[in-house]
Amino acid sequence: MSVRASAVVVAAGTGSRLAAALGPGAARKGVVVVHGRPLAAWSVEALARTPGVGEVVVVLHADDLRRVETDPADPLGTALRAAGATRFVAGGARRQDSTLEGVRATAPAADVVLVHDAARPLLASEDARRALEKAREVGAALLAVPAKDTVKRVGPDGLVRETPPRRECWLAQTPQCARRALLLEALEAAVREGVEVTDEASAVERLGHPVAVVEGSYENLKLTTAEDLPVVQRLLAKRAGLLPEGDRGPPVRTGLGTDVHRLVPGRRLLLGGVEIPYDRGLLGHSDGDALLHAITDALLGAAGLGDIGEMYSDRDARWKDSDSLKLLEGALARVREAGFEPRQVDATVRAEAPRLSPHKARIRASLAAALGIAESCVNVKAKTNEGLDAIGRGEAIAADAVVVLTRRD
Ligand code: MG
Repeated sequence: MSVRASAVVVAAGTGSRLAAALGPGAARKGVVVVHGRPLAAWSVEALARTPGVGEVVVVLHADDLRRVETDPADPLGTALRAAGATRFVAGGARRQDSTLEGVRATAPAADVVLVHDAARPLLASEDARRALEKAREVGAALLAVPAKDTVKRVGPDGLVRETPPRRECWLAQTPQCARRALLLEALEAAVREGVEVTDEASAVERLGHPVAVVEGSYENLKLTTAEDLPVVQRLLAKRAGLLPEGDRGPPVRTGLGTDVHRLVPGRRLLLGGVEIPYDRGLLGHSDGDALLHAITDALLGAAGLGDIGEMYSDRDARWKDSDSLKLLEGALARVREAGFEPRQVDATVRAEAPRLSPHKARIRASLAAALGIAESCVNVKAKTNEGLDAIGRGEAIAADAVVVLTRRD
């Protein structure tokens, strides 16, 4: 069996800045629930999926650890195990104490240990993998991003002491990785010598050992204050597929359309742009094609563009006796302008008479041509109304349609 790495997710901190904003009774930061999962579970999952990582140890606050260990159904433990956590340990007073407990709990056979902060739930497995590979090569490595802002070194008097060149400034993230023995030595030395370190890399640096920087992603944000929470929530939702990207809505849209017209003598009967021999036709400001009107409404509805009445007022003389295929064409142009393409239509015509089955194939072909889609994606059904109401008495014909659009990208 090849040597595997171990991951440690530190979730023991109280997250006092976030807790103060969330109010009394708020969960500790690492276990605060975001989109139904404790914050730590998001990065536990990313690490469990990272190639070469064989276990994920989670460091919890002693109170949280008690819950997880005493109640097998505890939601925190359940969520973390489901995400891939293999072991839980209690943290210490400071971050470096918690980290040390976590590293000690990893398998002694692990070659490299990746230490990750639960407050960074947006870690990508690919970035963790690159940091791990670099640590195997150099001995220690961390994810970091180039500073976008100029960094100032400031004294306790509030005066700038120094401005390091920006190109030399990187912002440290996690995971921070090192060979297991090296990391243990570095963390134990810091504790023994009473030195406070804010990250694992600096403990390794103190020993004079090289530490490599691996360029990570700006999206690997750290949740620190309440202002960060909506940003982190939104990015996690996007990652989990809970939200469409941006505000453009889902890429597949459905629209519903219905219409009814009175049957009167002296008019042509048109359905789906096809003329059907009958002694009466549909009355309307336009040619009265109820099926095309239902489909036009469904198209506009799916794209969120209102309805046929708003687009073609029946008080407007321009649309008097107009060809409903032209009305559909106009609506389709707007739908396409909005970035959508029709993919499928299913329609039902409700008519007591005439019998529509001999005409269904022609109607289907006509609709497929009008919408620019294959006939296999058009379905037309015909039903009677069993003699009930005006449609059942043969005084009117109604149509219902459902249209599916997809967004062109
Ligand atoms: Mg109509």
